[in-house]
Amino acid sequence: MLGLKNRYRLLIWGALLVTAGLLLAACSGTGDTSDGTGDMAVEQSAEREILYYTCGMHPSVRVSPAQYERGKTTCPICNMNLVPVYREVSGRKAKGERKIAYYRNPMNPEITSPVPAKDSMGMRGL
Ligand SMILES: [Zn+2]
Repeated sequence: MLGLKNRYRLLIWGALLVTAGLLLAACSGTGDTSDGTGDMAVEQSAEREILYYTCGMHPSVRVSPAQYERGKTTCPICNMNLVPVYREVSGRKAKGERKIAYYRNPMNPEITSPVPAKDSMGMRGL
């Protein structure tokens, strides 16, 4: 019951968004307000930010979104359509580099410390 209702509401919102988008497209298509629509398109992709565009065959090719919007949509080497590379939003937390969770006593794994600690078991002797 509730799920269906929510889904229905989502549909209405979706329809509204599409309608708004169509209206915007219609306005920009007929009118001469072409300078304002570019920003809108960029803001739409806030969730998945495009880092740059690249070629599937040539990863070294990198075209900035600004260049892409200016018409540089194909690879300069093989003329293939460039594909967008997104910034991963889900991996925002400590992406790439591993963070140290704790330090562990090499002699006794049960002894852990959040900071590098001089251990109390006579490790200095080693
Ligand atoms: Zn290419």
